[in-house]
Amino acid sequence: MTLLHERFPGAELPHVSLGDRPTPVRPLPSWGADVWLKDESVFGRGGWGGNKVRKLEWIIPEAHRRGSRTILTVGGIGTHWGLAAALYGAEHGLRTVLGLVEQPVDDHVLDQLSRLEASGAVVHRYASVRRLKLAAPGLLLRYRDGLRPPYYLPAGGSSPVGTLGYVDAALELAAQVHAGEVPEPALVVTAVGSAGTAAGLTLGLRLAGLSSRVVGVVVNDSFRLDDVVIARLAKSTVDLLRDRGAAIDVGIDADDLDVTHRYLGETYGATTAEGARALDAARVDGLELEPVYTAKAFAAVRDLAPAADGPVLVLNTHGPRGARA
Ligand SMILES: *Cc1c(COP(=O)(O)O)cnc(C)c1O
Repeated sequence: MTLLHERFPGAELPHVSLGDRPTPVRPLPSWGADVWLKDESVFGRGGWGGNKVRKLEWIIPEAHRRGSRTILTVGGIGTHWGLAAALYGAEHGLRTVLGLVEQPVDDHVLDQLSRLEASGAVVHRYASVRRLKLAAPGLLLRYRDGLRPPYYLPAGGSSPVGTLGYVDAALELAAQVHAGEVPEPALVVTAVGSAGTAAGLTLGLRLAGLSSRVVGVVVNDSFRLDDVVIARLAKSTVDLLRDRGAAIDVGIDADDLDVTHRYLGETYGATTAEGARALDAARVDGLELEPVYTAKAFAAVRDLAPAADGPVLVLNTHGPRGARA
């Protein structure tokens, strides 16, 4: 039973628990007087944690509901999403097939690739998004279960079903605010790689009646990511909830959140000087960030916090486990 189920009793929302909630909140004094962390890195019980596991809690039972035994999805070769899907999917009887596009290679990406190899996922690599798109129909055919096509999920698991994970996380944050564990944030900052996290938070904070504003720090230029796209995903998630029997009537539009592209750097996965500084600074607080997402989100917090008119809460969405490969 999640807070989302409590909020919408009677709605048909299949769910499997993959992590312990709530994730902890704590202050980050070295980032600013009123900067707070919600540590999503600890979410998940298997070989990988972080924000993708919250999405899989809703995606895995949806695959079963559809009678699928195979998930087909896409990402960069360093994909955290693909790895989480492979690991948690395998535990629940699902095979994961990944169409991956090359991205700048560093130690972190090499690490991810070796984790992926060990995960049992079927991996196909492509030189560009265009090549992957050309190959997609073939992958859909090749990995059918009998006559049924594989359950296709967009990059990052950011379908409306996956987005439910962060609607629930936002309800969880609101409960922590009401319990006095963290002040009501003026801003809730997250990296945006495929929009599901930011869209779910925007919707969930609204449902909870908090006035906190989501700030999405875009780290991916492989497809369009802005306030309109994120609001559209939030709206599709409202539609999904309504289809499943939830009594919900909220409108989300592009004005309901802020999005910045200032921290992206040259491209998805490219390191930036601000990101590298944030990564080093976070170690002081015992936080292990990575350069692709969280370092860029934390770099934004550094600039946002002094001007914010209230507390700033940032999500650590990165969930490595165990020894580096
Ligand atoms: C995927 C990811 C994000 C971004 O979440 P989206 O829902 O894809 O926008 C942020 N941080 C980390 C570490 C991620 O792996």
